[in-house]
Amino acid sequence: DSDLQILRSAIRDVVDFPKPGIVFKDITPVLADAKLFRLAIDCFAEATRAAGAEKVVGIDARGFLFGAAVAYQLGLGFVPIRKKGKLPYKTQSAAYTLEYGEAVVEMHVDAVQPGEKVVLIDDLLATGGTAAAAIKLIELMGAKLVEAQFLIELDFLQGRVNLPADRVRAFLHF
Ligand code: IMP
Repeated sequence: DSDLQILRSAIRDVVDFPKPGIVFKDITPVLADAKLFRLAIDCFAEATRAAGAEKVVGIDARGFLFGAAVAYQLGLGFVPIRKKGKLPYKTQSAAYTLEYGEAVVEMHVDAVQPGEKVVLIDDLLATGGTAAAAIKLIELMGAKLVEAQFLIELDFLQGRVNLPADRVRAFLHF
């Protein structure tokens, strides 16, 4: 609808960032505009409520910006999944492959409980590698992923094939 169209048109393309040949989707104009930020949070919050989530898990770093606001709005707890070495307490970790080499994400071992229904939130779904590792972490801890939500999905990268596609939701598609 028109709200989503307004949000979509606020996403800025930055050519050759972070390296030549990449067109980076910049969501900071959405954050900086009071109405757009509320619109984005309302999209996530409505879907998170409908999914029956009991906790919000956000991915480092832009997933924190949306995830924390959604958790606050719905009165839920928030859990960060971070890049290796950033979390202070005992962690569970999951590795995933990048174009060159591999990366590791971590979550505190007591952050989610067995059987707990969690929603995963990030700004953007590209190849799906990051989200797949995050979902692996959630499931290693025995929690249940009710939905993985993204403001933006880059459809041409088909990241969904690496995820439980029936539990993936994106509000904007490019
Ligand atoms: P994936 O693992 O290839 O799906 O990449 C997704 C992760 O990289 C997410 O955490 C995004 O925040 C980040 N990312 C990749 N491309 C972009 C982009 O164009 N804009 C913003 N974030 C991006």
